[in-house]
Amino acid sequence: MEPMQSKQAAILSIGDELILGQSCDTNSAWLSYELLKHSIITAEHRTVADDRSAISLSIRSLAEQYDLLLITGGLGPTQDDMTREALGDVLNPGELLVEDLQARDDLVQWFSDRGLEIPESNFRQILRPSDMRMLHNPNGTAPGLSGVHSSCQIFALPGPPREMQPMFLNLVVPEIPKVDEAFSVRMAEVHEYGMGEAEAAQRLGEITDRNRNDRVGTTASEAIITARIRAHGSKEHAQQSCTEIADTVDRLWHPYSFGREGVTLASAVGTLLRDLQLTLVTAESCTGGWLSKTIVDVPGSSDYFLGGWITYANSMKQDNLHISEELLKQHGAVSEPVVRAMAEGALGSSQADLSVAVTGIAGPGGGTATKPVGTVFIAVGQRNSRGELSSFVRRFKFLAERSVVRDRAVKSALQMLRFTILNVTEDIPLLWQV
Ligand code: ATP
Repeated sequence: MEPMQSKQAAILSIGDELILGQSCDTNSAWLSYELLKHSIITAEHRTVADDRSAISLSIRSLAEQYDLLLITGGLGPTQDDMTREALGDVLNPGELLVEDLQARDDLVQWFSDRGLEIPESNFRQILRPSDMRMLHNPNGTAPGLSGVHSSCQIFALPGPPREMQPMFLNLVVPEIPKVDEAFSVRMAEVHEYGMGEAEAAQRLGEITDRNRNDRVGTTASEAIITARIRAHGSKEHAQQSCTEIADTVDRLWHPYSFGREGVTLASAVGTLLRDLQLTLVTAESCTGGWLSKTIVDVPGSSDYFLGGWITYANSMKQDNLHISEELLKQHGAVSEPVVRAMAEGALGSSQADLSVAVTGIAGPGGGTATKPVGTVFIAVGQRNSRGELSSFVRRFKFLAERSVVRDRAVKSALQMLRFTILNVTEDIPLLWQV
């Protein structure tokens, strides 16, 4: 097929469970993102119930409008799986579905490999409209289907993501026509934490103008702000624009921007620690191990993370981090002197170069007038080359429910750690700092 100029796709998701809110349509988001990697823009997502005429109506109208139609779901063996029949209604109206001999062999093989009898209902899955081809499914019994209607390329894929994704990558991607290189699309993402969404957008200024050829939008998810960049043009131009815009966003968001694409706060900190050959320990109270878990979620974290203490009760703080009873009595467990002592105590009880400590009131109970729920103290401790210990503390007020308070505490602790490693001055504020 000739390379297309710009190409538009639609994604049709099928299933009562999606319409009724019993499960989420993640396939459409995944497919749209994958298509964009091939410079194909998804113009429409549609979801329909397991209803033969509704499915065929949607297939017909989407195929008339778009160059590419990806369908997921409804290819199973049961009576409510109607995608094959609906495709037949559109591509070969009035004809019966035909049996696919290769699909029959594959089905027999699938069940014999597992030492099972083939249930009668599974034979429905070897039927296809006569003008469609089948796509082999090594991860399940539902083959996919491929065909053309109204000059639109149509692919029907199984619903379960673990079957759909490899089928798309292995069998659909090689078949989708290449977009003319002059109409390439490239994407990039830059993430920041610690600066509010409004300020982040303000700093970006006119580069977020929607009339520009290259699009930059911001989204917020769990307090991480992401600039999503989409550049169009020739392959080289799109790639270069994307990189240049991402570099600009990075600079405008400094020092809050911590990485691109799949980088997380924990992986950004991990890369810095590894590059500088520094080691880290944690001392956690209200985050209860969440901070350590987030650090350990990053593969290879054993290169820099030595371990940590979950010192939830005062007695644990005393016994493990050598915090004096007087200090706890005088200031309370949620206080600047105690978090400092936790960070320095963790360093004192280990050989690490850096420590991070968190203590706070996650709620819903336990707040007071001077320390309301959401009050969290975070300290970063350092050991200098002479072995002397020091620490730096920030106080936060996260006005939110328990899990949000704890999540923001983890993220703020990681960003503070990053700032310390990068020598960001202490007067640079973090969101929710008081
Ligand atoms: P199977 O033969 O495995 O049943 P199928 O093509 O018939 O394949 P469905 O029966 O429609 O698929 O869906 C099976 C399961 O796949 C659903 O219960 C759901 O867990 C998952 N699934 C279906 N559609 C989607 C979707 N759009 N996003 C995410 N998951 C989906």
